Amino acid sequence: IVHSFSNYVAYYDVAMYEKDAYEERLISELDRALEEKQFVLYYQPKYAIQGDKAYPVSAEALVRWNHPELGMISPGIFIPLFENNGLIKRVDMYIWKEAAEQIKRWKDKYGIVFPLSVNVSRVDLLEKDFVETICEIVRGAGIRSTDFMLEVTESAYTQDSKGIIEIVNQLRSMGFHISMDDFGSGYSSLNMVSSLPIDELKLDMGFVRHIHEDVKSYKLVEIVMEIAKLLDVKVVAEGVEIREQYDLLKKLGVHIIQGYYYSKPLPEAEFTKFVEERLNY
Ligand code: C2E
Ligand code: CA
Ligand code: CA
Ligand code: CA
Repeated sequence: IVHSFSNYVAYYDVAMYEKDAYEERLISELDRALEEKQFVLYYQPKYAIQGDKAYPVSAEALVRWNHPELGMISPGIFIPLFENNGLIKRVDMYIWKEAAEQIKRWKDKYGIVFPLSVNVSRVDLLEKDFVETICEIVRGAGIRSTDFMLEVTESAYTQDSKGIIEIVNQLRSMGFHISMDDFGSGYSSLNMVSSLPIDELKLDMGFVRHIHEDVKSYKLVEIVMEIAKLLDVKVVAEGVEIREQYDLLKKLGVHIIQGYYYSKPLPEAEFTKFVEERLNY
């Protein structure tokens, strides 16, 4: 018993060590990764439901780290890591700039604005010069603030909500559209939500995942739809994978659908077909 226990401890230590070493490596290689443009944007279409049809109206930009030795690294691994040590700003600034320049390229090529949503961390919002920075990025790329939607998770508003709301208010008055990501994951009070300057509620994926097999999820989305009507904001369902989910969400009046049902996130070259599809409407 003693023997196997010590084995277990040793194994556990090795796993912990490897995780730390991996994270240390990612941190120490950030500079070079930014220089060598190892971070790439993938785009996932957001479809607006209109009667019996739906068409792509915008997309969410999602980052991946295409590491030369470690392969494609998911944001679920490095975003929380960089949020914890102040490095996130550098990655996100790069992402927003790339996204803004992408909007401009499509504008020049197709003559239309295909708006993008980008993710903004709570840590980003708390940077002193955040508003200035994002305005400068938009201006520098030659697009308008109204071409950009900023996705801020519900949980970002939990601490110092007053300060966060003030910044979001400022951004919105400058023209940026604001989305509340992961809505319903359990942090905000209805009272707070009703005073928030937002354009869109993005349902937490947990509701969508079970909507076709669990009455509770269905009923909860029904309630969110009521709240959204009251606040006059649009509702987005993400993580929509199958027809049954789509049909129920449509029946409930959800405005915008995002998920594998239409497309997984795609690199620029493959995503272009959705921008071209938009031209037909
Ligand atoms: P999120 O903003 O909630 O993004 C939704 C996640 O769900 C994405 O994961 C997306 O690829 C995935 N997804 C989309 N459709 C489906 C579907 O039908 N089924 C399932 N099961 N999943 C689907 P991803 O790309 O791995 O991103 C994870 C999280 O990382 C994002 O969650 C976001 O919080 C964060 N993130 C991604 N890019 C950025 C970024 O540029 N900056 C910051 N600060 N955070 C980012
Ligand atoms: Ca998001
Ligand atoms: Ca989300
Ligand atoms: Ca999230």
